[in-house]
Amino acid sequence: MHLELDADSKQRLERAREIGRTEVRPIGLEADRLGRPIPVDDSYFARCLERGEGRTRWRPAGTPKRSGRRRRSTVTTLLIAEELSYWDRGVGVANPGPGLPEGNVIAQGTEEQKEKYLSAFIKPDRPRWASFAMTEPGAGSDAAAIRTTARKDGDSWILNGAKCFIGNASRADWILVQATTDPERGRAAQRAFFVEQGTAGLGPFKIEPKMGLKAYESTSFPLQDCRIPAENLLGGEKKRERPEGFKGAMRTFNAQRPVIAANAVGIGRSALDETLRFAREHGLIKQARVRDRIEHMTRKLRMARLICLRAGWLADQERPNVVEASMCKYVAAAVAQEATALGMEVLGAVAGRGDHIVEKLYRDVKAMDIVEGTGQIQRMIIARKLVELPR
Ligand SMILES: Cc1cc2nc3c(=O)[nH]c(=O)nc-3n(C[C@H](O)[C@H](O)[C@H](O)COP(=O)(O)OP(=O)(O)OC[C@H]3O[C@@H](n4cnc5c(N)ncnc54)[C@H](O)[C@@H]3O)c2cc1C
Repeated sequence: MHLELDADSKQRLERAREIGRTEVRPIGLEADRLGRPIPVDDSYFARCLERGEGRTRWRPAGTPKRSGRRRRSTVTTLLIAEELSYWDRGVGVANPGPGLPEGNVIAQGTEEQKEKYLSAFIKPDRPRWASFAMTEPGAGSDAAAIRTTARKDGDSWILNGAKCFIGNASRADWILVQATTDPERGRAAQRAFFVEQGTAGLGPFKIEPKMGLKAYESTSFPLQDCRIPAENLLGGEKKRERPEGFKGAMRTFNAQRPVIAANAVGIGRSALDETLRFAREHGLIKQARVRDRIEHMTRKLRMARLICLRAGWLADQERPNVVEASMCKYVAAAVAQEATALGMEVLGAVAGRGDHIVEKLYRDVKAMDIVEGTGQIQRMIIARKLVELPR
């Protein structure tokens, strides 16, 4: 396994570190203190755009390749994801861009759909978001159980149902909504639909309270007789005949798992550094119990990081990495939760005051076990793959 970064990747990582320290950390702490997402019109988002963030990697067919610019490797992407989460994972998710649904749209969408929904993200004129809505009040881990329906009516689809905990939904230009065309047929009948902001029947949006990651919004919303044009079916009519609705959504989660693992390692590393700082400032470093915790956190975080980078390296080699992606997601989330908890132990009574960054990291990290499939679900995926059971 070769993990040495080239000069360009090192530079990108260094830049992410600097932005994290100077911009991401302060705005994340402020959002946590106020207990609300960063407002849409915050100047932070405009600065993101000025730095060239918030863009899609998609380009229309025939666009000439920019000379001298190599595609970013998955390993580099993971290290940058780790670095941004080191400073604040909630701010990382709040950042504008086509986000979670981008990969699915690039893989499954028609050329017209990519043009319509992604071209505004090539060089955005204002902060823009997109959102992916799978989870429902009655369907989380068991994504095949979703009950949001899509019924064909002439040249339209009519969507009815409810979604919850959807990132950035109320500020998104469009939401890729997963729905079933026949609730009796389970995953085989699932499709994804573009629902544009402002469509009648979409909303109202409710921003859910969260224990951590307060910088970005997690939103619940209903779809009530929400009528959208027939062409908003992801992949178009052709995909209706050869559907990949459920598989496409699962691919989105698969690709995201090492990123979440990297996020978890970043949060854990941050907890480690802040715990060390606290121990030094309070003269605790001579205590064996403190050193024991520091060693434990460091050892496990380094192990988690290696599994995570291996999943990324396999992706870069275009080799299968389903087991490694689920393994690193499970291991990194568990290790990072443990690291923040050990940090809280070192802090002692200060941990209970609610104003130390390690306490914030302790709240932030829990979601790393939940999103893109919980730890238990990752272990189920690994076990099925190891004994070669079909999904
Ligand atoms: C911060 C945050 C952001 C999110 N963002 C999005 C988003 O942008 N888009 C989106 O669609 N969703 C999003 N979600 C939803 C997330 O994907 C779900 O919360 C997750 O899939 C778990 O579903 P659930 O909460 O319904 O828990 P449940 O599925 O009800 O699970 C509850 C518990 O039971 C366990 N469990 C469930 N089934 C089994 C089983 N078969 N065997 C053993 N144990 C099991 C789980 O591991 C878990 O511990 C987000 C959630 C959070 C917390």
